[in-house]
Amino acid sequence: MPSHKWRKRFRGSGSRWTAPREAILNLLSKTSKHMSAKEIYQALLRIYPGIGLTTVYRTLDLLEKMGFLNKIPLGSGENKYELITESDQTHHHHLICTQCGKIIDYTDFVDEELELIKKTEKSLKQRHRFQITDHNIEFYGVCEQCQKRR
Ligand SMILES: [Zn+2]
Ligand SMILES: [Zn+2]
Ligand SMILES: [Zn+2]
Repeated sequence: MPSHKWRKRFRGSGSRWTAPREAILNLLSKTSKHMSAKEIYQALLRIYPGIGLTTVYRTLDLLEKMGFLNKIPLGSGENKYELITESDQTHHHHLICTQCGKIIDYTDFVDEELELIKKTEKSLKQRHRFQITDHNIEFYGVCEQCQKRR
């Protein structure tokens, strides 16, 4: 997403468009990796030597609440973040290794899962009168490398 679109969404929400916010969105738009707050902080230090870890945490929190980012809990209390893209082609689910924190994106079976999800959403909507806007699917376990290491 080009940055003028981000800026527009900020203006609409009443939040200020600041350098750290733009830097984090830029960083995450250029990587296919899922990054933790500390990894984002390390990467940003090179561009913004004055930035603090607290600012990074607060900004990530805000960007997540505004719907820019997807927060993926690693199960260890730490989270990783990725940019939410608008295209369906990048829709994926996650396999998360609870030993090393590795995240595998997968798109296999997503179509079949989506069919089931749509059915589930429909009945949830009827039963709870809840308007569902999105979903996350995360499987937790141990990756191949970590299984070998044991
Ligand atoms: Zn999905
Ligand atoms: Zn692992
Ligand atoms: Zn992902």
